Amino acid sequence: GIRLKDEIQRIKQMLAAAQIGLECSGEFILTNVTPFTENILSMCLKEAINNVVKHSGASSCLISIEQTWKEVVMTIHDNGSFKTVKGKISDGHGLRGMQERLEFINGSLELLTSNGTAIIIKVPVDLK
Ligand code: ATP
Ligand code: MG
Repeated sequence: GIRLKDEIQRIKQMLAAAQIGLECSGEFILTNVTPFTENILSMCLKEAINNVVKHSGASSCLISIEQTWKEVVMTIHDNGSFKTVKGKISDGHGLRGMQERLEFINGSLELLTSNGTAIIIKVPVDLK
């Protein structure tokens, strides 16, 4: 599986190459989720950043990871603008794939598009 701290290294390079600034907050070493859950979080992070690079036109992006006793909350927020295709959220596989994988581990995905694009991903912790 992909560890979050390895994925974030690749993402730093991708964003730097695209000249998009990156601010990170929180802990990228998770202690209370299984490798399976961490792998899904890593894939979601990768896809969200692919979208920032491909679609957003942003100059900067924030990645935040917060852990509470019951869940991990990962937010990816860019300062670009969300692109709709003919008034709907296109037929891409990225967002749908994220949602499907998250459902599998009782996680959730929220998309906010009024101020750039923010994706808020929540997964329950596995180990308490
Ligand atoms: P795929 O992921 O299958 O390569 P895709 O990126 O077009 O294709 P999704 O990842 O599902 O598909 O995203 C759906 C659509 O939502 C995108 O085509 C784009 O219009 C919009 N979108 C997603 N993320 C962003 C973002 N960060 N900024 C602007 N628009 C976005
Ligand atoms: Mg995509």
